[in-house]
Amino acid sequence: MTQITPQPGIMDIALYQGGKAHVDGVSNVVKLSSNENPFGPSPAAMEAVRRSAHELHRYPNTDHASLRQAIAEVHGLDANRIICGVGSDEIIHFLCQCYAGPGDEVVHSVHGFGMYRISALASGATPVEVPDSERVTDVDAFLAGCSERTKLVFVANPNNPTGTMIGMAEIERLAEGIPPQAILVLDGAYAEYVEGYDGGAALTQARDNVVMTRTFSKLYGLGGLRVGWGYGPQEIIDVLNRIRGPFNLSSTALVAAEAAVRDQAYADKCRAENARMRSWLSEALAEHGVPSDTSTANFVLARFGSVEEAEACDIYLQSQGLIVRRVGSYKLPNALRITVGDESSCRRVAHAVGQFKAGQR
Ligand SMILES: *Cc1c(COP(=O)(O)O)cnc(C)c1O
Repeated sequence: MTQITPQPGIMDIALYQGGKAHVDGVSNVVKLSSNENPFGPSPAAMEAVRRSAHELHRYPNTDHASLRQAIAEVHGLDANRIICGVGSDEIIHFLCQCYAGPGDEVVHSVHGFGMYRISALASGATPVEVPDSERVTDVDAFLAGCSERTKLVFVANPNNPTGTMIGMAEIERLAEGIPPQAILVLDGAYAEYVEGYDGGAALTQARDNVVMTRTFSKLYGLGGLRVGWGYGPQEIIDVLNRIRGPFNLSSTALVAAEAAVRDQAYADKCRAENARMRSWLSEALAEHGVPSDTSTANFVLARFGSVEEAEACDIYLQSQGLIVRRVGSYKLPNALRITVGDESSCRRVAHAVGQFKAGQR
């Protein structure tokens, strides 16, 4: 008998369920389950990937200087205060590993992104769940959920899977109100989808207790390459860099992300097309008797009358080759999260929901 056991907390982690990509026996499937950009990345990013093939025998650079510089220029930030990770998931992980351990608490909302809980548990800390107010981040609930043990407070704005967001004044009130030993992490995975929103960059710039995380997986269409970044106070970024693997990002990922962030004309096009199809989709769903909150991201959270109806609709959509996301694990069992695809995917999914609802009557 060995006495081999994993660290405390590890066995409390439920395996992350990714968005489905296949349905047995159904062809011409459209995947609307992982909030991916239906148009893919900028052509400039694809060209950078092709060129990088000639240098694959070389180790990547370890300081990510060129990518950080590009991000800094585009967003008007200080490159020294940027850290790049294997998706923003890795930045979330660094934050938990560096700042939260056994006896510490990590606060997130009941409908918050699943990685907060996983990363908190992985570092031995205790996740603390606070309620939303009608699927909208509730700053008072967050403040009430904080204690002298709180080390990290995670808020995604816009939030996944609700699609809702709160204003900067509320975010500022949260940053101001959390205890002195806590860091507010502003997860801006969908910030690029909000016209004129800086993701909290200015607030992060001005404060010493806020870290912003961003990703290339959503609007930039590079989920397959795994690149994200964080921005925060110099002291915190320097701490995170101590545990970052020196070669955490591949040379291919680095050049693709740099080309993507420099192609803001392409980003603008994707943002505009998403906004157009998002309002079309939510209106079409509403006409079929399926309401959703006003989304600010690249998905809508479609609400059904019951858990049974949501499940039945999901099964019907799958039979039609349409894969959306069940969000029971986000405590929204009567809803389905539908990524805003291209126009034909949006039409297909709205039509299928309409057929399903007609069959219910
Ligand atoms: C998709 C997503 C992320 C991170 O994705 P990466 O691919 O790891 O960058 C982070 N937060 C939220 C809320 C997301 O939806």
